[in-house]
Amino acid sequence: MQLFEHYSLKSFNTFGMDVYARYFGAFSTGDELAWLLGLPEFATHPPFILGGGSNILFRGNVENLVLKNEIRGIEKVNEDNDHVYIKAGAGENWHHFVSHCIEQDWAGLENLSLIPGNVGASPMQNIGAYGVEVKDVFHSLEALDLEEKTTRTFYREECEFGYRESIFKRKYKGRFAILSVTFRLDKTPRYHTSYGAITQELANMGVRELSIQAISQAVINIRSSKLPDPAVIGNAGSFFKNPEVSAAKEQQLRENFPGIVSYPLANGNYKLAAGWLIEQCGWKGYRDGDAGVHERQALVLVNYGQATGEEIYRLSERIEESIREKFGVTLEREVNIYP
Ligand code: FAD
Ligand code: NAP
Repeated sequence: MQLFEHYSLKSFNTFGMDVYARYFGAFSTGDELAWLLGLPEFATHPPFILGGGSNILFRGNVENLVLKNEIRGIEKVNEDNDHVYIKAGAGENWHHFVSHCIEQDWAGLENLSLIPGNVGASPMQNIGAYGVEVKDVFHSLEALDLEEKTTRTFYREECEFGYRESIFKRKYKGRFAILSVTFRLDKTPRYHTSYGAITQELANMGVRELSIQAISQAVINIRSSKLPDPAVIGNAGSFFKNPEVSAAKEQQLRENFPGIVSYPLANGNYKLAAGWLIEQCGWKGYRDGDAGVHERQALVLVNYGQATGEEIYRLSERIEESIREKFGVTLEREVNIYP
């Protein structure tokens, strides 16, 4: 166990921001975390738990005690007639975990294939893709309360999951270190193929009989063709959330912009595709120095190499402003901004 000072975070965030942590340590067990939290530096520098760094924009150096969660392990902890309960260490790579479950024929995670990051961050923003969210398969999680230094179990209802939201992103922001997550997966699959280009991709693949393996591969193919690989171009996925507006506002927008992309929600409101709004304001493929908007997906801001977090952030402010002016809609950032 070691604590490092002025430690580079460049290879620990997918935007590739060249920033430093005041203190940095990694832990692979609860005991190692307890050791780090017992250090005098903990009292003066609040802890910041880091996963895969794929949903963070560092605007500058981080004056915290940055603690990288590397707790591993995947185990079946229970089962009944219909479900298996799988517990995974927070530091497990998400896609590795998903692939493992798919290999075992445990269903429910296939639409969430190839999302970057680690298991521990998956409940943070209730990750979602292709019509499935983590809350649909979530059973519980274990977390260390960084104030009380006690462990606590959170069940699904306590996590206040919403669209790319949870209690850990709001009321308990920075308070808990998630140690493990338990998922309730199906023995008999329930397929979700109506979303986005999945059906088309399954047809392209020549799939005659559906399986979770085929759906996972279809999702992998679509994502690989559309999204920038952070190993090649720095990014943190969708920078903004899709905004929710009232039915009246959607109607008014549709009259002025007949091509608007929107989806009705169960509560009577509409979700607008933020990527479409950004594209309509002419940002798709925009580049200013090394800060830019991806050429195939306008919702993704990119670092072509040497952009600073501040430059990416300022670009996001300009985009937000133009959307407000043209559509009267306020975009909310999905990416976590630090400091
Ligand atoms: P980090 O970026 O390390 O951390 C994110 C936040 O969670 C930070 O506030 C951090 O402090 C906190 N945190 C992390 N781990 C813990 C822990 N163990 N305990 C307490 N707090 C913790 N997201 C989606 O929802 N759907 C997608 O389809 C999707 N596609 C993406 C595609 C690309 C190319 C990229 C780059 C990102 C994408 N994302 C997507 C965003 C991102 O992958 C997810 O939000 C992912 O869950 C972040 O995991 P992470 O481990 O990298 O978290
Ligand atoms: P897409 O399929 O081109 O669709 C564009 C937007 O329309 C998406 O944001 C999606 O909303 C919405 N949408 C599409 N079909 C829908 C349907 N049948 N019902 C309701 N909403 C629908 O999107 P994409 O960019 O290629 O991404 C595909 C999936 O991966 C999406 O679910 C997206 O959220 C997810 N993704 C997330 C991130 C991230 O960083 N958060 C990055 C890349 C991809 P939703 O976003 O609400 O699903």
